[in-house]
Amino acid sequence: MSNENQEVIVVGGGPGGYVAAIRAAQLGGRVTLIEKSKLGGTCLNVGCIPTKVLLHAADLLAEANHANDFGINVNVTGFDWKKVLKKKDSVSSQLVNGINGLMRANKIKVINGTAEFVSSDTLFVTKADGTKETLSGGKIIIATGSVPAIPPIPGVKENDHCINSTGALSLAEIPKSLLIIGGGVIGVEFASIYSQFGTKVTIIEALPKLLPLMEGELTALLRNKMEKSGIEIYTEAKVQSVESSSVGAKVNVEYKGEGKCFEAEKVLVAVGRRANTKALNLEKAGIENDNGKIRVNHKMETNVPDIYAIGDCLGQVMLAHVASVQGEVAAENAMGLEASYNGKTVPSCIYTNPEFAGVGLTEENAKEKGIEYITGNFPLMSNGKALIMNGGEGMVKVILGKEFKEILGVHILGPRATDIIAECALAIGMEATIEDLIETIHAHPTLTEAVREAALAAEKIAIHAINK
Ligand code: NAD
Repeated sequence: MSNENQEVIVVGGGPGGYVAAIRAAQLGGRVTLIEKSKLGGTCLNVGCIPTKVLLHAADLLAEANHANDFGINVNVTGFDWKKVLKKKDSVSSQLVNGINGLMRANKIKVINGTAEFVSSDTLFVTKADGTKETLSGGKIIIATGSVPAIPPIPGVKENDHCINSTGALSLAEIPKSLLIIGGGVIGVEFASIYSQFGTKVTIIEALPKLLPLMEGELTALLRNKMEKSGIEIYTEAKVQSVESSSVGAKVNVEYKGEGKCFEAEKVLVAVGRRANTKALNLEKAGIENDNGKIRVNHKMETNVPDIYAIGDCLGQVMLAHVASVQGEVAAENAMGLEASYNGKTVPSCIYTNPEFAGVGLTEENAKEKGIEYITGNFPLMSNGKALIMNGGEGMVKVILGKEFKEILGVHILGPRATDIIAECALAIGMEATIEDLIETIHAHPTLTEAVREAALAAEKIAIHAINK
């Protein structure tokens, strides 16, 4: 039974905060949500959603350019970037309006303002209209998200041609050249967008591989595809400094022990994000944190009774779907139920062309943990649907425990990988084995057949591939 009428204050209206607010309201809570900007947070306004609109536009352009291969006579005369940006903004607005509607439907009071702690149970809010309000008592859920990290590279802060992901979503024109510092998720997604729109893209990544947390074999395939499409990629390359140049910016890089210079019209700085908790005055409430990253337990409780924290402000896995689930967990606990967060089934989804998704352990993780495992790979070249959709580029890889053949991880590079991964997350959540995947009948012709074939390949009985 939940504590009906419990007062709940949520700070931050992104996919963590607004979901927490709705869940608390569903359970009978009297909920107030404080948001300083627009509801929907980074995800809806300057993150997941607008990026995906640009990616969709870029993919449409690529499809149109290849339509002739299928006998469709398309004469692509170019694109209207302003219209692309307008579409991006209209999709974001539509979704934000939807969240506003959900707040009203769930009787959640929304305050447009900035909150800070004055004690362990009191928040002081400076509202957008200049008025102030003090909120006390009740349960508090912190969901203030993250902001782009600025690396201490000399020249970055001072150079107007250096932008972050928010800036990259609203460039007035397509740049002729773009250098991206950081080959992580943001780096590769923007590389995919702008290279498809004709920008000369260069990625500089400090570590030996792009997307360091993703499955290595598939990351190498993606890198290959990106390089073939004209993107220049330098790994084990460290940016030393940025200077002005007539083109825009000159970026000095240490690569393989030597100095190398690049010039680009724009420099996208994508070296990670940091927890956005500075303005909260966590010390006044006595909330434990590591350099601003709030510490919580599996119930999303901080060390201070009645204060919870969720999502990017924990500085751990910065994904909208993680924040939302943690929001539900925090709200349920705040309302007197018992809930806990388990990240075992978190899918990682990267919206490149082709898409890249993974859930569970990578082969590298299994090795590091000393787990005995086997793998099964299935190339999408042998999957009819993939062949139609993107010429069969990509692969599915499953990682299984050696003794019991339980599914430890599944990784997919290919069209719709970010959708197909849901089946694999469910399989891992239900502790399924290879048998379960194989016994499940997958429709033909679909991309999902490739997941089953990868499982068959682990047993060396794949039907549409030569088993080695
Ligand atoms: P990231 O951590 O994914 O990648 C940053 C990369 O920059 C790393 O590979 C790192 O090695 C590299 N790097 C750091 N300092 C560097 C330097 N000085 N020179 C060169 N390389 C350097 O961070 P991000 O790409 O900025 O993304 C931020 C967060 O947003 C991530 O947590 C990400 O998961 C999330 N995000 C997710 C999605 C998605 O789920 N599709 C999309 C965008 C962002």
